[in-house]
Amino acid sequence: MHWLERWLFPPTCVITGTATEQFDLQQTFIDKWQISPEICPRCAEASPHGQICGLCLNSPPAFYRTQVAFKFDAELRDLIHQFKYAQHLHLSRLLAEQLADRLDFQGVEALIPIPLHTSRLRERGYNQALELARIISKQLNIPIVHGLTRQVATPSQTKLNAKQRRRNLKHAFAADGSQLGELRHIALIDDVITTGATMQSATKVLQKQQPGLVVQAWAVAKTQ
Ligand SMILES: [Zn+2]
Repeated sequence: MHWLERWLFPPTCVITGTATEQFDLQQTFIDKWQISPEICPRCAEASPHGQICGLCLNSPPAFYRTQVAFKFDAELRDLIHQFKYAQHLHLSRLLAEQLADRLDFQGVEALIPIPLHTSRLRERGYNQALELARIISKQLNIPIVHGLTRQVATPSQTKLNAKQRRRNLKHAFAADGSQLGELRHIALIDDVITTGATMQSATKVLQKQQPGLVVQAWAVAKTQ
């Protein structure tokens, strides 16, 4: 933050409203939401010593790496909820910068935000994944590519279990080959990863279009 900007608009915590040192978030929350280093690099589920977990060894997901900024704690859930459903678009900067600061982005050639179906986009007015991707793109200097479209307006996933989510997402996405060009390594962007079904479905569609494409899954938070 520029000194003048800091002087005119001193940072305040978006949760408590109190003055902060650096971000619009108190350090106590950042510390509290920290994810354990002992997570599987493939799916970001807890795994001793940070090794690839048994589930990923038995049936590896299509994406090769998952990177998230935080645990999906209660206050963060509320914050993401405001960002996603209550038009609090200004939160995109804070959330995206927190994620970008923690990413190992070596080799990633493009960012692909998980798209919303046009009917939901019309209803909400913006795609939260694209808003996050815009800021990450600027910060890391990686272009956004609209390599995916949403074919079907899938019902909300929040009350579905893993199997129902997979079924719900079948045929949800289509890849746009003209956008993918010669890309070999991309990162999908979403706000939250729950079971990973959305990332899996999107990755499969992209790899069908572009065999051998290396895909990472990036999100602000992962439920645990
Ligand atoms: Zn795993």
